[in-house]
Amino acid sequence: MIHNPIRVTIWNEGRHEKRKPEAAAVYPKGIHGALADHLNKAGGFTVRTGVLDDPQHGLQADVVNDTDVMLWWGHLHHKEVADEVVDRVHQRVLDGMGLLVLHSAHFSKIFKKLMGTTCDLKWREDKDERVILWVTRPGHPIVEGIDDHFILPHEEMYGEYFDIPEPQTTFLISSFSGGEVFRSGCTWSRGAGRVVYFRPGHETFPSYHDKNVLRIIENAVRWAAPTRPPKPVEFGKRVRGWIDQK
Ligand code: ZN
Repeated sequence: MIHNPIRVTIWNEGRHEKRKPEAAAVYPKGIHGALADHLNKAGGFTVRTGVLDDPQHGLQADVVNDTDVMLWWGHLHHKEVADEVVDRVHQRVLDGMGLLVLHSAHFSKIFKKLMGTTCDLKWREDKDERVILWVTRPGHPIVEGIDDHFILPHEEMYGEYFDIPEPQTTFLISSFSGGEVFRSGCTWSRGAGRVVYFRPGHETFPSYHDKNVLRIIENAVRWAAPTRPPKPVEFGKRVRGWIDQK
Protein backbone atom coordinates (compact mmCIF):
# COMPACT_ATOMS: atom_id res chain seq x y z
CA MET A 1 0.00 0.00 0.00
CA ILE A 2 1.31 3.42 -0.93
CA HIS A 3 1.30 5.91 1.91
CA ASN A 4 0.92 9.62 1.41
CA PRO A 5 2.56 11.32 3.21
CA ILE A 6 5.56 8.99 3.11
CA ARG A 7 6.36 7.66 6.60
CA VAL A 8 10.05 8.29 7.25
CA THR A 9 12.23 7.16 10.15
CA ILE A 10 15.63 8.82 10.43
CA TRP A 11 18.02 6.72 12.45
CA ASN A 12 21.26 8.23 13.74
CA GLU A 13 23.90 6.80 16.03
CA GLY A 14 23.75 10.22 17.68
CA ARG A 15 26.85 9.94 19.86
CA HIS A 16 29.23 12.37 18.11
CA GLU A 17 26.80 15.24 18.61
CA LYS A 18 26.74 14.48 22.36
CA ARG A 19 30.45 13.91 22.85
CA LYS A 20 32.22 16.02 20.24
CA PRO A 21 31.63 19.78 20.56
CA GLU A 22 32.72 20.33 16.94
CA ALA A 23 29.96 17.96 15.74
CA ALA A 24 27.37 19.57 18.03
CA ALA A 25 28.39 22.97 16.64
CA VAL A 26 27.59 21.86 13.07
CA TYR A 27 24.51 19.79 14.01
CA PRO A 28 23.03 21.25 17.21
CA LYS A 29 19.88 19.12 16.81
CA GLY A 30 21.89 16.10 15.70
CA ILE A 31 22.34 14.88 12.12
CA HIS A 32 18.88 13.30 12.41
CA GLY A 33 17.47 16.69 13.46
CA ALA A 34 19.03 18.46 10.48
CA LEU A 35 17.63 15.88 8.05
CA ALA A 36 14.22 15.88 9.76
CA ASP A 37 14.06 19.69 9.52
CA HIS A 38 14.66 19.53 5.78
CA LEU A 39 12.08 16.80 5.10
CA ASN A 40 9.49 18.54 7.28
CA LYS A 41 10.08 21.78 5.40
CA ALA A 42 9.93 20.02 2.01
CA GLY A 43 6.53 18.49 2.85
CA GLY A 44 4.97 15.17 1.92
CA PHE A 45 6.59 13.26 4.77
CA THR A 46 5.78 12.31 8.34
CA VAL A 47 9.14 12.09 10.06
CA ARG A 48 10.23 10.17 13.14
CA THR A 49 13.75 9.90 14.50
CA GLY A 50 15.62 7.37 16.63
CA VAL A 51 19.12 7.19 18.09
CA LEU A 52 21.32 4.40 19.40
CA ASP A 53 20.73 5.28 23.05
CA ASP A 54 16.92 5.10 22.78
CA PRO A 55 15.24 1.91 24.06
CA GLN A 56 15.62 -0.63 21.21
CA HIS A 57 17.48 2.22 19.47
CA GLY A 58 14.07 3.78 18.78
CA LEU A 59 13.36 0.97 16.31
CA GLN A 60 10.64 -1.00 18.06
CA ALA A 61 8.65 -3.40 15.88
CA ASP A 62 5.71 -1.03 15.45
CA VAL A 63 8.01 1.83 14.40
CA VAL A 64 9.83 -0.31 11.84
CA ASN A 65 6.60 -1.81 10.50
CA ASP A 66 5.08 1.64 10.09
CA THR A 67 8.08 3.00 8.17
CA ASP A 68 8.11 3.42 4.39
CA VAL A 69 11.67 4.72 4.14
CA MET A 70 14.43 4.59 6.75
CA LEU A 71 17.60 6.70 6.76
CA TRP A 72 20.65 5.29 8.52
CA TRP A 73 23.68 7.20 9.81
CA GLY A 74 26.27 5.44 12.00
CA HIS A 75 30.00 5.59 12.51
CA LEU A 76 31.85 4.32 15.59
CA HIS A 77 29.24 2.17 17.32
CA HIS A 78 27.85 -0.14 14.62
CA LYS A 79 28.56 -3.14 16.85
CA GLU A 80 26.26 -1.82 19.57
CA VAL A 81 23.23 -2.06 17.33
CA ALA A 82 21.33 -5.14 18.52
CA ASP A 83 21.18 -8.00 16.02
CA GLU A 84 17.49 -8.36 16.76
CA VAL A 85 16.90 -4.79 15.57
CA VAL A 86 19.08 -5.33 12.50
CA ASP A 87 17.07 -8.47 11.61
CA ARG A 88 13.83 -6.52 12.01
CA VAL A 89 15.01 -3.73 9.70
CA HIS A 90 16.39 -6.29 7.22
CA GLN A 91 13.07 -8.13 7.05
CA ARG A 92 11.21 -4.86 6.59
CA VAL A 93 13.48 -3.97 3.63
CA LEU A 94 12.72 -7.35 2.04
CA ASP A 95 9.03 -6.58 2.58
CA GLY A 96 9.33 -3.30 0.67
CA MET A 97 10.74 -0.56 2.92
CA GLY A 98 13.25 1.80 1.31
CA LEU A 99 16.60 2.24 3.08
CA LEU A 100 18.94 5.19 2.56
CA VAL A 101 22.40 4.44 3.95
CA LEU A 102 24.51 7.53 4.59
CA HIS A 103 28.27 8.13 4.71
CA SER A 104 30.07 5.98 7.34
CA ALA A 105 27.03 3.70 7.62
CA HIS A 106 28.70 1.75 4.81
CA PHE A 107 30.07 -0.34 7.72
CA SER A 108 26.72 -0.67 9.49
CA LYS A 109 25.44 -4.18 10.24
CA ILE A 110 22.31 -3.59 8.19
CA PHE A 111 24.17 -2.44 5.06
CA LYS A 112 26.71 -5.28 5.22
CA LYS A 113 23.89 -7.79 5.71
CA LEU A 114 22.00 -6.43 2.71
CA MET A 115 25.11 -6.28 0.51
CA GLY A 116 26.78 -9.54 1.58
CA THR A 117 30.25 -8.03 1.10
CA THR A 118 32.78 -6.30 3.38
CA CYS A 119 31.72 -2.79 2.20
CA ASP A 120 35.32 -1.70 2.86
CA LEU A 121 36.83 1.32 1.12
CA LYS A 122 39.89 3.59 1.03
CA TRP A 123 39.87 6.45 3.46
CA ARG A 124 42.00 9.44 4.37
CA GLU A 125 41.83 10.66 7.92
CA ASP A 126 41.36 14.13 9.35
CA LYS A 127 41.81 15.91 6.09
CA ASP A 128 38.95 17.92 4.82
CA GLU A 129 39.11 18.56 1.14
CA ARG A 130 37.19 19.70 -1.87
CA VAL A 131 35.16 17.08 -3.69
CA ILE A 132 33.35 17.28 -7.01
CA LEU A 133 30.27 15.05 -7.31
CA TRP A 134 29.46 14.18 -10.92
CA VAL A 135 26.03 12.99 -11.99
CA THR A 136 26.39 9.71 -13.87
CA ARG A 137 22.66 9.03 -14.43
CA PRO A 138 21.04 12.25 -15.63
CA GLY A 139 17.27 11.84 -15.65
CA HIS A 140 17.24 9.46 -12.68
CA PRO A 141 14.62 10.63 -10.12
CA ILE A 142 17.26 10.76 -7.36
CA VAL A 143 19.22 13.49 -9.19
CA GLU A 144 16.20 15.52 -10.27
CA GLY A 145 17.03 19.22 -9.90
CA ILE A 146 20.79 18.58 -9.67
CA ASP A 147 23.14 20.12 -12.24
CA ASP A 148 25.70 17.91 -14.02
CA HIS A 149 27.94 18.30 -10.97
CA PHE A 150 28.19 20.06 -7.63
CA ILE A 151 31.08 20.83 -5.30
CA LEU A 152 31.41 20.34 -1.56
CA PRO A 153 34.35 22.31 -0.21
CA HIS A 154 34.76 20.22 2.97
CA GLU A 155 34.50 16.45 2.80
CA GLU A 156 36.34 13.38 3.96
CA MET A 157 37.99 11.23 1.27
CA TYR A 158 36.36 7.87 0.55
CA GLY A 159 38.06 6.13 -2.37
CA GLU A 160 37.77 3.06 -4.57
CA TYR A 161 37.94 0.19 -4.33
CA PHE A 162 34.57 0.14 -2.53
CA ASP A 163 33.70 -3.51 -1.87
CA ILE A 164 30.02 -3.56 -2.79
CA PRO A 165 28.05 -5.72 -5.21
CA GLU A 166 27.71 -4.07 -8.63
CA PRO A 167 24.97 -1.45 -8.13
CA GLN A 168 21.81 -1.45 -10.22
CA THR A 169 22.39 2.25 -10.74
CA THR A 170 25.37 4.46 -9.95
CA PHE A 171 23.98 7.97 -10.04
CA LEU A 172 26.98 9.89 -8.67
CA ILE A 173 30.73 9.57 -8.55
CA SER A 174 33.06 11.71 -6.46
CA SER A 175 36.42 13.07 -7.49
CA PHE A 176 38.69 14.19 -4.66
CA SER A 177 41.53 16.69 -4.68
CA GLY A 178 43.98 13.81 -4.12
CA GLY A 179 42.88 12.24 -7.42
CA GLU A 180 40.80 9.43 -5.91
CA VAL A 181 37.33 8.61 -7.19
CA PHE A 182 34.41 6.95 -5.43
CA ARG A 183 30.96 5.62 -6.38
CA SER A 184 29.01 7.97 -4.14
CA GLY A 185 25.40 7.34 -5.09
CA CYS A 186 24.30 3.76 -5.72
CA THR A 187 21.08 1.76 -5.70
CA TRP A 188 20.16 -1.90 -5.27
CA SER A 189 16.98 -3.93 -4.85
CA ARG A 190 16.68 -6.40 -2.00
CA GLY A 191 13.43 -8.31 -1.98
CA ALA A 192 10.69 -5.73 -2.54
CA GLY A 193 12.81 -2.94 -1.02
CA ARG A 194 15.02 -0.31 -2.57
CA VAL A 195 18.41 0.39 -1.01
CA VAL A 196 20.39 3.58 -1.67
CA TYR A 197 23.91 4.45 -0.57
CA PHE A 198 24.86 8.15 -0.54
CA ARG A 199 28.39 9.03 0.60
CA PRO A 200 28.55 12.69 1.79
CA GLY A 201 28.05 13.63 5.42
CA HIS A 202 30.93 13.54 7.91
CA GLU A 203 29.78 14.63 11.38
CA THR A 204 31.99 17.71 11.60
CA PHE A 205 31.39 19.00 8.05
CA PRO A 206 28.24 20.90 7.09
CA SER A 207 27.32 18.58 4.18
CA TYR A 208 23.79 18.03 5.53
CA HIS A 209 23.17 21.76 5.25
CA ASP A 210 24.13 21.78 1.55
CA LYS A 211 21.17 22.30 -0.77
CA ASN A 212 22.28 19.70 -3.33
CA VAL A 213 22.91 17.05 -0.68
CA LEU A 214 19.53 17.71 0.93
CA ARG A 215 17.79 17.64 -2.45
CA ILE A 216 19.33 14.24 -3.27
CA ILE A 217 18.31 12.87 0.14
CA GLU A 218 14.77 14.15 -0.35
CA ASN A 219 14.60 12.74 -3.89
CA ALA A 220 16.02 9.41 -2.71
CA VAL A 221 13.40 9.11 0.04
CA ARG A 222 10.60 9.73 -2.47
CA TRP A 223 12.16 7.26 -4.93
CA ALA A 224 12.71 4.51 -2.35
CA ALA A 225 9.17 4.65 -0.94
CA PRO A 226 7.27 1.39 -1.54
CA THR A 227 5.18 1.43 -4.69
CA ARG A 228 3.82 -2.11 -4.63
CA PRO A 229 2.37 -4.45 -2.04
CA PRO A 230 5.06 -6.04 0.09
CA LYS A 231 3.97 -9.62 -0.47
CA PRO A 232 3.62 -10.48 -4.17
CA VAL A 233 2.35 -13.94 -3.13
CA GLU A 234 -1.05 -12.37 -2.48
CA PHE A 235 -1.46 -11.89 -6.22
CA GLY A 236 -0.93 -15.62 -6.62
CA LYS A 237 -3.61 -16.36 -4.07
CA ARG A 238 -6.00 -14.04 -5.86
CA VAL A 239 -5.33 -15.70 -9.21
CA ARG A 240 -5.71 -19.17 -7.71
CA GLY A 241 -8.98 -18.07 -6.12
CA TRP A 242 -10.21 -16.83 -9.45
CA ILE A 243 -9.24 -20.07 -11.16
CA ASP A 244 -10.92 -22.12 -8.43
CA GLN A 245 -14.16 -20.23 -8.96
CA LYS A 246 -14.26 -21.06 -12.66
ZN1 ZN B 1 33.11 10.55 8.38
